[in-house]
Amino acid sequence: MADKMIPLADLRYAAAMPRVPAVSVPPIGLLGDTLGRPLRDLRISVTDRCNFRCSYCMPKEVFDKQYAFLPQTSLLSFEEIARAARLFVAHGVRKIRLTGGEPLLRKHLEVLIAMLAELRTPEGDHLDITLTTNGSVLARKAQALKDAGLNRITVSLDAIDDAIFRRMNDADFPVADVLEGIAEAQRVGLGPIKVNMVVKRGTNDDQILAMARHFKGTPIVLRFIEYMDVGATNGWRMDEVLPSAQVIARIAAEFPLEPLEANETGETAARWRYRDGSGEIGVISSVTQAFCHDCNRARLSTEGKLFLCLFASQGHDLRALLRGDYSDAQIAGAIGLIWQARGDRYSELRSEGAAAPSAGAERRVEMHYIGG
Ligand code: SF4
Repeated sequence: MADKMIPLADLRYAAAMPRVPAVSVPPIGLLGDTLGRPLRDLRISVTDRCNFRCSYCMPKEVFDKQYAFLPQTSLLSFEEIARAARLFVAHGVRKIRLTGGEPLLRKHLEVLIAMLAELRTPEGDHLDITLTTNGSVLARKAQALKDAGLNRITVSLDAIDDAIFRRMNDADFPVADVLEGIAEAQRVGLGPIKVNMVVKRGTNDDQILAMARHFKGTPIVLRFIEYMDVGATNGWRMDEVLPSAQVIARIAAEFPLEPLEANETGETAARWRYRDGSGEIGVISSVTQAFCHDCNRARLSTEGKLFLCLFASQGHDLRALLRGDYSDAQIAGAIGLIWQARGDRYSELRSEGAAAPSAGAERRVEMHYIGG
């Protein structure tokens, strides 16, 4: 990392008070933003804390012992999260991803999962409930998460080499414990399991083939994520990005690959399979192959701020409505107005050179706060 970043402007409090429509029209699940993108995927951050200090997300120099994490009272309660989720589902959300920080650090998370598992779409279907974790406590929690109604899980793992992994998580955490968590998640049936590796050129790109060899021949889908200019603290530089095309080329040189169709509209990963049929990999290329055109994701922060893009710098204070004297119809109406006005497409603008990564960087929201 180039040099110590300036202290964070306390972004957590920069959120607009949502406008509540005078007349509330019941949601019909067909909400579209200004680019015609539906609202289908809600990412809910349940904590801003983490036991890792990955430099691309929570560099230790900034998120040190003095860093003031959110007080418990400002976090949305499970009841508030479930109420908000129910209103988003009425607007068309079909998938809920629990994130953080590290979501498994939030006590009794299985209670929230059970509440979300009771929700049904307007058509009466179950939701797809998933979670992204660093795997550090997964071995202990997997069974309870499954029993509560979690469908599947994504584990972040940036290296298979123990020394490199410990350096990247900057908490001296052993890779073996994460692999044990993945094995336990497999055993209890939390699949399909995905493993996400953030690739930083010059830091862990020499692990790409080692990771591919480790997960090839298993049902686990390994995805390689381009290092992104999220937030304002990771000192992002373009020369530390290894384009996904090079990741694919490196793997294909040893294991021939062929492209696969997307599973669904809005999927972030481009899918590939080993030609010998021994598994699938993916690449998530926000920097070199932006996918904003069908981005159907909204993000709810730990304290109830609604963000419409991972690179947003302003949220919408849903907590004020959830804790205020507003009906479900009024809050649903406010969510509708917010999404309908959405025009976010940061990665496309960055690719077009219309959004300089450094511009406004000090105001961009941090990934540990709204989840990846
Ligand atoms: S940059 Fe924003 S709009 Fe584009 S895909 Fe990412 S979250 Fe969606």
